[in-house]
Amino acid sequence: MLRGNVLGILSHRIAEMAMAVAAATFFARSAWAQKPPLLPEKDVAALAQEVSGEAAKRNLEGITRFHRQRGSKGFHSAAELVAERARAYGLSDVAILEFPADGKIFYGTQRSRPAWDAEIGELWELHKEESGWHPAVKLASYEAEPITLAEDSEGSDVTAELVDVGEGTKEGDYAGKDVEGKIVLAAAQPGAVQDLAVGKFGAAGIVSYAQNQKTAWWGEDENLIRWGHLNTFSANKTFGFMVSLKTGRALRVRLARGEGVLLHAVVKAGQHPGAYEVVTATIPGADPKLKDEEIAFSCHLDHQRPGANDNASGCVTTLEVARTLQKLINEGKLVRPARTIRFIWPPEIEGTLALLNGKPEFARRVKAVVHMDMVGGGPETKAVFHVTRGPMSLPSFVHDVAWAFARSIR
Ligand SMILES: [Zn+2]
Repeated sequence: MLRGNVLGILSHRIAEMAMAVAAATFFARSAWAQKPPLLPEKDVAALAQEVSGEAAKRNLEGITRFHRQRGSKGFHSAAELVAERARAYGLSDVAILEFPADGKIFYGTQRSRPAWDAEIGELWELHKEESGWHPAVKLASYEAEPITLAEDSEGSDVTAELVDVGEGTKEGDYAGKDVEGKIVLAAAQPGAVQDLAVGKFGAAGIVSYAQNQKTAWWGEDENLIRWGHLNTFSANKTFGFMVSLKTGRALRVRLARGEGVLLHAVVKAGQHPGAYEVVTATIPGADPKLKDEEIAFSCHLDHQRPGANDNASGCVTTLEVARTLQKLINEGKLVRPARTIRFIWPPEIEGTLALLNGKPEFARRVKAVVHMDMVGGGPETKAVFHVTRGPMSLPSFVHDVAWAFARSIR
C-alpha cells in the first residue's frame, strides 16, 4: 500500500544520496587537500552527470519482488540479482560469500539462526452453513502478502476457535480463559507470546495485531500490517499470523460480544540449515601499498517484500554508487582511488557479524564504512533523514565526511 508513495520519491532521494556518498568516497582519499564541497568542480560535475536515480529505481524494482528473509530462497534471488548487476557494471571480485547458519554455529557472541522458508500460509475464518462449516473470509495469505506470516512459523493445519488474550505476555492475560488447542489473538509480537500461550497454556497458534515500534508509525494507520516474528530458538514451536489493527479490533469486538470465531490455519513453513549470504565486490585501488586498505559501502539486503525503503533503497544506492564510480574511472573522468573501494550487501546485523568473525581480514582491511539504510524516505513517508557519524572515542577525519554528507543533502 505504501509502495507507490515510496517509489515515487525514491529516484530523486537516491540520486542525491548517491551523489553525496560517491563524492565523499573520493574526499576520504584526499581529505587534507580538499575543502567542502569535497571535490574539484570537474569531478563533481562528472558525478552529477552520470549518477541516475532512475537506474537505481530499476534495480529497486527487481529487489522488491523478493521476500528477503535471512537464508531464504527470496534472499538468494536478491543476492543473485545484485551480483549480476555488479558484474554487468564491471566491478571486480564479485562474489556471494556463504556462512553456515544452522542454529548451532556461533559468530562472535551470536548464535547463527537457521534459514527459514515458507511455501503456504493461509488463515481463513469459517462460517456455518447448512452443510457445515466453510471457509468464508481469508484473513491472511502468504502468497499475496508474505508479511502476514510471522517469521519462524512452523507447519500446521488446524481448525480452532479464536480467544482474545489482550497483550498475551503476562499470565494474568490468560486468567479464566481456556486456550488449549485454540488460537490466541494477541496485541504483542508472536515471539513475546509463544512461551506462555503455546508452551504453558497449550495454544495451537497465534494471531497478532502487533504495531510498529513506537519510534515509527505506532498505531497511526490501522490498515498497516506489522512484520511479525516468533522467537527463533524457542522450544515451543508454533505459527503466527499478522493482521492489521483494524482486523484485530474487529475480531476483539466480536469476541467480547460472545460471538464465536472459528479459524482454519494452514502453514507449510519451517527452519532448516542454510547460510548467510553476503554479496561483495570491489573497485581495486591504484596504489600498490594503499590498495590493501579499503573504504567500504555497506547496507542490508534482507527484509520483507516489498520493503522498498527498508532496505532495497540502501542496496540500490550502493549499486548506483558502484556503477557511477566504475564507469567514470573506466572513462578516465575520475582518477582511480589509491585505496580499494569495497561494496557489501549482507543480511542485517547477523550477516555483518558472520562476515567480520568468519573472515577477519575484512575487518583489518576496512578503514571507513559508509552504511546506508532507508535512504529513500522523505516527508511523504514521515521519514527523518539521519546522518550518523562514528563515536568520539575513535577520532578520525572521517567523521567530518559524515558532517559533509549531512550538509550536502539537507
Ligand atoms: Zn533497515
